[in-house]
Amino acid sequence: MFGRLLRTACGRNAVSCEAAQHDNNKGGRVKADKRAKLSFDSKAVYYPPDAASKSINAPMFLASSFQYDADIYQQVVDGERKAVNIYGRCGNPTEYQFEEQMTFIEDGDACLATASGMAAISVALFGLLKSGDHIVCDWTTYSSTHEMLDHRLTDYDIQTTFVDTADIDSVRAAIRDNTKVLYFETIANPSMKVAAMTPLVDLAHERDIIVICDNTFASPAVCRPLEYGVDLVVESASKFIGGHNDVIGGAITMRSDRLPGDFLEQIRWNTMVKWGSPLAPFNAWLLLRGIQTLAVRVDRQCQTAMKLAEHFEGHAKVSQVWYPGLASHAQHEIAREQMPSFGAMLTFDVGDAEAALRVVDSLELACFAASLGGVRTTTQIPATMAFLDIPEEERSQMGIAEGMVRVSTGLEDADDLIADFDAALARI
Ligand code: PLP
Repeated sequence: MFGRLLRTACGRNAVSCEAAQHDNNKGGRVKADKRAKLSFDSKAVYYPPDAASKSINAPMFLASSFQYDADIYQQVVDGERKAVNIYGRCGNPTEYQFEEQMTFIEDGDACLATASGMAAISVALFGLLKSGDHIVCDWTTYSSTHEMLDHRLTDYDIQTTFVDTADIDSVRAAIRDNTKVLYFETIANPSMKVAAMTPLVDLAHERDIIVICDNTFASPAVCRPLEYGVDLVVESASKFIGGHNDVIGGAITMRSDRLPGDFLEQIRWNTMVKWGSPLAPFNAWLLLRGIQTLAVRVDRQCQTAMKLAEHFEGHAKVSQVWYPGLASHAQHEIAREQMPSFGAMLTFDVGDAEAALRVVDSLELACFAASLGGVRTTTQIPATMAFLDIPEEERSQMGIAEGMVRVSTGLEDADDLIADFDAALARI
């Protein structure tokens, strides 16, 4: 694993070149082989000091262009583009450091950073697929993912069959000779459906199908799908990884026997660079900072989600609660096997759209806002917000009801949040 990681992470990046530290036996640094074996919390916090300044925080390179000299020029002419910094759209040292950090925390072999979560999903799919290929995808994915598969990819003759991945027989039945990708989310929105990764990966790999999993709702602190044999993990880093509702970014992380070792480098050049969707250096820097507090933030957010879920389950105004940590959740046992905690996302139903709006609009401490994963608790109404453009019939296939309220728990005190929700629920 290390050979590849060092090539991809350090080849182009003189800033945090771990190869140099590898030979250096001084204290104050974790050598590369030890770093890979650290616990998740330590991996998230640690990266080596900057080689030039010795700053323990990553420097930020706000550069669109990098100076050539005769040697660099020759390297570029010889096709060694990865070994040098050329132009911001092709890559930036701060972005490479984020990729290296994501590789470690996801337990992967390589990572490609992108401008957003949707850029990660698009670059992964368009990087892999050709016209005439077929995808099997869960019915319940992020709305823009569903719409891209259902409408835009069909324009390029890439068809998708939507299935319930909780029913392995329907996944098997949907596979065709030209199926190239099986796609699902570790925790799906808004029913918080948890995918049983091992049987899905086994089935796909028997048929030489690449498994792509969106891990946004779980975050690497809760679930690391590469450990279950998933080939590519796509993630919106705008959510838990950034963690402060102040940055948009994405990542594709890989560990796969089925894809070439340099697959992410190939698609960096043949897809991401051509589409113009690199992660900006300032965003990479914010995400690097976010990763350092990911474990503690998410740990607390999960505890609060559990308290809220238990509270809502006994609430007279709530007809149903969806949270993988509740024994009543359809995939509770699968969640227990795959995740050390159950995530910081939950949904509850208050009957109809009018009641849902009244609840979210009455909240004072929790905010009524799109997105998730930040330090502030955010709420939204999936049917008429994220999934507004999806036809009603498809929404019901996805298990989306009009009265659902989705909650992303932040870092506020759980009892204060319960009081806030109780006051809002009292208004319906
Ligand atoms: N995947 C999931 C599960 C999401 O919820 C989102 C956005 O909400 C995305 C992907 C897209 O991420 P971004 O907004 O960073 O493009």
